[in-house]
Amino acid sequence: MSDSVNQIIKPLTTTVNENGNLEIGGCDLVNLAKEYKTPLYVIDEDTLVSICNSYKEAFAEYKNVKLLYASKALCTSAIATLLSNEGFGFDVVSGGELYTMYKAGIDMQTILFNGNNKTEEELSLAVDLGIARFSVDNFSELSLLDNIAKNKNKTVDILLRITPGIECHTHEYIQTGHLDSKFGFDMSQIDEALSLIINNYKNLNLKGLHAHTGSQIFETKVYKDEIDILIKELVRIKDKFGLTLNEINLGGGLGVKYTEQDNPPSVKEMADIIIEAIKLNCEKYKYFYPTIYLEPGRSIISNAGVTLYTLGSQKQVPNGKKYVSADGGMADNPRPSLYQAEYIAQIANKPNAKNEETVTIAGRYCESGDIIIENIKLPKTEQGDILCVYNTGSYNYSMSSNYNRTQKPAMVLVKSGQSDMIVMRETLEDLIRNDIIPSRLKKC
Ligand SMILES: *Cc1c(COP(=O)(O)O)cnc(C)c1O
Repeated sequence: MSDSVNQIIKPLTTTVNENGNLEIGGCDLVNLAKEYKTPLYVIDEDTLVSICNSYKEAFAEYKNVKLLYASKALCTSAIATLLSNEGFGFDVVSGGELYTMYKAGIDMQTILFNGNNKTEEELSLAVDLGIARFSVDNFSELSLLDNIAKNKNKTVDILLRITPGIECHTHEYIQTGHLDSKFGFDMSQIDEALSLIINNYKNLNLKGLHAHTGSQIFETKVYKDEIDILIKELVRIKDKFGLTLNEINLGGGLGVKYTEQDNPPSVKEMADIIIEAIKLNCEKYKYFYPTIYLEPGRSIISNAGVTLYTLGSQKQVPNGKKYVSADGGMADNPRPSLYQAEYIAQIANKPNAKNEETVTIAGRYCESGDIIIENIKLPKTEQGDILCVYNTGSYNYSMSSNYNRTQKPAMVLVKSGQSDMIVMRETLEDLIRNDIIPSRLKKC
């Protein structure tokens, strides 16, 4: 079974160079930290391109497949441009992500808009820009979107987001008749939605069904079950409404390897299960092969990214833990404090030194829960060491904040020894840019 880079923790190009330092994309990480300061997000282009190729190759035999990158994982203008060059379209979930794509010159006919509470303003912008698909999440949105389209004298193509009664978390997977989820139409509400679209909402053109069962998926069976349900539903809709829908969106969710305990399937393993399930179902029900959409986010960008921190103060609790503090933390990576996410790390300036101590890497923010890595074995750490935390490409920058009024870090794209800044570090001035002091507070 061919591997894909979601199955490894570090970027493909990670090595130790002749200076004895860690190197990614041909760039010495200690030099990057010097040049761009820390914290710093580093994205390895080769790793990113490699996973894109894995997706394209794995689905090559199925002609009608549309690969959309779930931009909520990491959305910047350069990343969008790079993925568009690789042939990917985009799943956006806000006006901000949509605007990023638009300003980056992305073809609007490759964009699908998701979300359970898109605003009138966002929907209106998307209709004006002429995006390819709206994944409509609920009854209120059906009515709102039809109204917006009608006022603009347009017809828009939609998918219905449904909750197929499958839900998976990292290590568990449940199937129920009804999912108590905020996303999508319950299976029992599909007929009512269809009747409304057919009879009332003349400016909505239904193309197919959409489901997304969860994130960090390790079991390919989830995709098989999802396809069984979706195609059975297409057949039922054809029989009952005489409506032939030819698109299914399977969502994203393929897992990545954060620590040695994680064993996600390869892209190829996932693709084979998907293609086989579609063929089986379509033969069984004599339904023609639908266009399939996939929306991977995490598995595309996650392990292409690392975060560099400079280590600072240390604290040995008597008879307790040893804390080593980094110059970042929950504001640039909220995942550990949000849901105990685990990461591995190395000291970039002495990757080959023997591990001598078990420490807890603390963030710098004013929350006891701001811990980057709990109990990690490292060589003897010193102030000024550069810590490289692996697999931070997804849901780090995109979930970052200015907590404690700190500036968001810069991001660089590395390839073949070249580094290009793709997001500038925020300045102190950026932090107060939108502040206003009402004149009545000013003493004259
Ligand atoms: C979050 C999300 C994705 C991407 O999920 P990943 O786990 O990052 O691959 C895709 N589709 C929808 C609808 C989502 O909400």
